[in-house]
Amino acid sequence: MPEVVAAGEAMVLLLAPQPGYLRHQAWLELRVGGAEANLAIALARLGFKAGFVGWLGQDELGELVLQRLRAEGVEVSQVRRLEAPTGLYIRERLPGGRGRVHYRRSGSAAAQMIPGAFDPDYLEGCRVFHLSGITPALSSGAAAFARWAMAEARRRGALVSLDVNYRSKLWGPGPARAWLEEVLPQVDCLFLSQEDARLWEASGLELLRALAARGPGHVVLKQGRLGALALVEGCCFESPAFPVEEVDPVGAGDAFSAGYLAGLLWGKPPAERLRIGNALGALAVSVPGDYEGAPSASELADFLQQQTFVE
Ligand code: ATP
Repeated sequence: MPEVVAAGEAMVLLLAPQPGYLRHQAWLELRVGGAEANLAIALARLGFKAGFVGWLGQDELGELVLQRLRAEGVEVSQVRRLEAPTGLYIRERLPGGRGRVHYRRSGSAAAQMIPGAFDPDYLEGCRVFHLSGITPALSSGAAAFARWAMAEARRRGALVSLDVNYRSKLWGPGPARAWLEEVLPQVDCLFLSQEDARLWEASGLELLRALAARGPGHVVLKQGRLGALALVEGCCFESPAFPVEEVDPVGAGDAFSAGYLAGLLWGKPPAERLRIGNALGALAVSVPGDYEGAPSASELADFLQQQTFVE
């Protein structure tokens, strides 16, 4: 049984290879993405037994996603296929540099997920169960699924990890905040980005304290080029980002969360977990694609050693 399980929607990604409007692209790169799948792949590459659970379509896109997860060493025995489309998204980088996403995930197989979507005994022996705030935005059934899965994981002694991952194209700030606040007592480790933080009025350490007061022992704020800030069991930790050339910012957050969780599973202290998270985030942004920059354990060690030398 996997020691880390991520649940959510894995999708096919069509990535515009050149900056500029999608309408001017001659072709798109066929890739795979989705927050939870990215995290599972990053942890598998680091050597963890990582599993992914979620529903995919009984279509060629589902086949592509499943094959990619398998090829990356992710355990997929609980993935179900059904007569609904596999989610798809297109990413372009607009003139001026801002990224834009077009979703084709409404009514997707993952949006049909409900409580019982996988055998909960799959979580027996699982140390970390991860999901994101994207799943509850897919449908009311998927929101119920997320609550159910968290409860099943907790019952089996897994640490529950949640990345806020607010997506304004899927739901509004009010329902997102309400759902998140409702489940916070079930969450042990909460990740949020600076953009996610705008869901609340407070910011910085004040926000981390307010969120921690509702349950999570770890609240980690990802701050892009500034690195990361965390409140862990009441103590504050901060770690700067690594200087790299940013080629594609998407997937940095998933990589960071994978790095932090890897550090936790390796028994590293909080500051080191943030450093590993920052390293994975930096590696993610330095190549195109959602997860392709994720390192193996030895590639991570090389990167960290090189950076120490530079420092
Ligand atoms: P995503 O685009 O995947 O949703 P996010 O908004 O959740 O990302 P960010 O704060 O953008 O998360 O990035 C996560 C982490 O990745 C940062 O905390 C940092 O460690 C690293 N990172 C992001 N951008 C850069 C950068 N330009 N240079 C170096 N490291 C970066």
